Amino acid sequence: MKLVEATAKSLLAESGVVIPDGERATSASQALSIAERLGPCVVKAQIPAGGRGKAGGVVLCSTPASAETAAANLLGSELGDHRVDTILVEQQIDIFRELYVAFMIDTTAGMPMVVFSGQGGVDIEDNLDSLQRRHLVPGSPIDHETLDIVCEGLGVNTDDARATIEQLQRAFATSKATLVEVNPLVVTRDGSIIAVDAKVETDDSAAPVGGELETDAGQQTDLEREAAEKGLRLIELGGNVAILANGAGLTMTTMDAVSHHGGRPANFLEIGGDAYTLAEPALDLTLRQSGVGSLVVNFCGAFARCDVMTEGVVNAWLALDPDIDVFFSIHGTGQDEARTMVRDRLGIEPFESMDDAIIAAIDSARSRGQR
Ligand code: GDP
Ligand code: MN
Repeated sequence: MKLVEATAKSLLAESGVVIPDGERATSASQALSIAERLGPCVVKAQIPAGGRGKAGGVVLCSTPASAETAAANLLGSELGDHRVDTILVEQQIDIFRELYVAFMIDTTAGMPMVVFSGQGGVDIEDNLDSLQRRHLVPGSPIDHETLDIVCEGLGVNTDDARATIEQLQRAFATSKATLVEVNPLVVTRDGSIIAVDAKVETDDSAAPVGGELETDAGQQTDLEREAAEKGLRLIELGGNVAILANGAGLTMTTMDAVSHHGGRPANFLEIGGDAYTLAEPALDLTLRQSGVGSLVVNFCGAFARCDVMTEGVVNAWLALDPDIDVFFSIHGTGQDEARTMVRDRLGIEPFESMDDAIIAAIDSARSRGQR
């Protein structure tokens, strides 16, 4: 699954990567008020595809009024195969150099690798010869020797550059991503290193690559420890909306969307390919978190089958009979069977869109006094 730029950037920022200040907008008037706060800005179409610069999906704006116009033009338009529903309005960066850095899985070797070039930007396709690559040790942070080689290839060997490369590798390793690509990674005139674009792809059927999220056992909560003993990775976040999604990428997207709509995610919980067998303990753990007022189940099936995952959740829901409401969004392989199961066995109508399910879940949590 391809995350849109804004979500990909939030994921990178969690590892410490510097991203431009900015916000998503779905209307021209929203874009105007964001631009008034930011000053000179860039208006960027949020579609799960690259090449937006050349297609007119990235517009540099020097005034709030021009940002409003750019937003009005982009929103609702078609860019390649995608309709633009959301834009990102970001502070404009004063670019000195554009670099290319990507972490990905070399499928032939079955190893993670870093790919990099000192000549990043929209013309990278014409500069493929400039790309260098090095394999990485799975499950380990990038070693100093490789870091030296990467920084030499990029032509920038500052503390900030080194830290950014390490942070990108950590984001790649901890998110189970198959690709983390930053093009351009920018060097500004004052030497700052900023991720001006970001692309993250996840394969929900993949085993963790490059390493697991390290959680200090001493700092785990009781529920997190219990989850670990059951083979589940739970991180309690203290919010009002519990989340059950398949794959780390979709879970992050769902968390992001819950925040975007004004709710607070209660947890990160990874159930990976074992969704079916672990649905009941996973549900039990999520619902025992204090302050949870509703549950969102967001499944997006490709290799993972929605009907199989949904059956696990429906069985678990009936067995546990929780005292809150659940909101389903189910898309992809097996969705028809899965939706029918939710209708017939739970008497609940699944939502057409993830956003609608999330908005309803937030309302429901609030109506139970969980804010
Ligand atoms: P893509 O074409 O879909 O990969 O979109 P990008 O986010 O990579 O943007 C395309 C190009 O727009 C970049 O390579 C930059 O040259 C330019 N660009 C994007 N953001 C900024 C910015 O903040 N300042 C400047 N000066 N240029 C930008
Ligand atoms: Mn780009």
